[in-house]
Amino acid sequence: MSSSVPVHRNYIDGAFVESAAHLEVFNPANGALLSRVPAASAEEVERALAAARAAQKDWARKPAIERAGHLRRIAAKIRADAGRIARTITLEQGKIASLAEVEVNFTADYLDYMAEWARRLEGEIIASDRPGENIFLFRKPLGVVAGILPWNFPFFLIARKMAPALLTGNTIVVKPSEETPNNCFEFARLVAETDLPRGVFNVVCGAGQVGGALSSHPGVDLISFTGSVETGARIMAAAAPNLTKLNLELGGKAPAIVLADADLELAVKAIRDSRIINSGQVCNCAERVYVQRQVAEPFIERIAAAMAATRYGDPLAEPEVEMGPLINRLGLEKIDAKVRTALAQGATLVTGGAIAERPGHHYQPTVLTGCRADTRIMREEIFGPVLPIQIVDDLDEAIALANDCEYGLTSSVFTRDLNKAMHALRELDFGETYINREHFEAMQGFHAGVRKSGIGGADGKHGLYEYTHTHVVYLQS
Ligand code: NAD
Repeated sequence: MSSSVPVHRNYIDGAFVESAAHLEVFNPANGALLSRVPAASAEEVERALAAARAAQKDWARKPAIERAGHLRRIAAKIRADAGRIARTITLEQGKIASLAEVEVNFTADYLDYMAEWARRLEGEIIASDRPGENIFLFRKPLGVVAGILPWNFPFFLIARKMAPALLTGNTIVVKPSEETPNNCFEFARLVAETDLPRGVFNVVCGAGQVGGALSSHPGVDLISFTGSVETGARIMAAAAPNLTKLNLELGGKAPAIVLADADLELAVKAIRDSRIINSGQVCNCAERVYVQRQVAEPFIERIAAAMAATRYGDPLAEPEVEMGPLINRLGLEKIDAKVRTALAQGATLVTGGAIAERPGHHYQPTVLTGCRADTRIMREEIFGPVLPIQIVDDLDEAIALANDCEYGLTSSVFTRDLNKAMHALRELDFGETYINREHFEAMQGFHAGVRKSGIGGADGKHGLYEYTHTHVVYLQS
């Protein structure tokens, strides 16, 4: 294929292999063509899964500390190439350079963190009811993992799936999002420069049908997926005939509750930063605000000013911007449609509210007030720099509204009153709650949602063990 842009190849069984069909990847900030990437065939998916299967037993037989060494060597490679990878992420995904750098370094730290578990992997010895009987619980790898990724933190999410999978003795086939696959090929390039045994880590790129082929394949033991609820449900249906295990990290509609006694300056900064980071395309960032009536006016005034002051644009051409573009035209139009519907339902526009008149997929930072429980934008994931606000009378009303949502990933509460914070923690039905801060979970925590936000979770000890099953052994002696 003649081309002035890079043409990438899938990484299967330790080698980069040619594909017959390709997709194009564009820069969301200006529409420029960045690369051509494989649209993997069913046969390529088969080959990748076969390679992962063939490699798995030997990989699992290695001492965990040896597997950890491989993760550490990949982490070192990532650090040495951080600038180039961050630029790749910014070019294809649109996040600002400083955030892309955070993502790359966090990815390397995450691999190192998971490597630390090598000497801490635990089984159990359980007391028996019978004389001479011993009961042992062994943690064993599941086998072959399919990691299906979204585009919003494309590089980190490779590690979030690959590191716990490999450390516990699984092998993996990763399918990056077709919107942001270039950084995954950077990852594969670095892996290929290490001594990781062939077949342990594979990349097949393509659109939804490649994810579908992985999801319905009997040769997959765990589907580890991050993405939308709709795709999660499709994956579940595709996995059902094989009863394949699932780990689903899905959407969010995080409520931020601001009480009358909150440190308003802190709340405004945290919620505004949360709403503009990665252009609002983050699953755990403030998607709706419930502010107590006594402080509603100053809160709305200040957050609207902070949102309106946000500098946005092309992150590489204008390095001073705080916010880049949205991922694609469809995302932009969906957000605009949600704002129009909110206004038609009686919401009031305080600032923003339109697609920016400039090249690329930019949306004006937007604040809406006068929202009610039945305003659709208070219930549907926005995934853009739009903040809808509803005024409430007290904490219990805010909690009831927060819980009355099909998503249950993260939530936040701003208050100086410890009793109110504790009451909120008891009553909020979410996987995660941030008190007096916004977004970003720790790698040693456990990132998981309730309701339609997912099944299972990631990070820390609990996330690591999602990639294992328990083998119970009864030994009579
Ligand atoms: P998406 O669901 O559109 O796509 C995710 C991946 O699934 C892509 O690789 C896509 O090609 C693939 N896919 C599409 N159709 C498929 C099918 N039928 N079978 C298998 N795979 C298929 O999601 P997105 O737009 O890339 O990401 C945004 C969504 O991800 C948001 O809803 C966001 O909240 C969610 N997300 C959640 C978390 C979390 O930790 N809970 C983190 C990041 C993003």
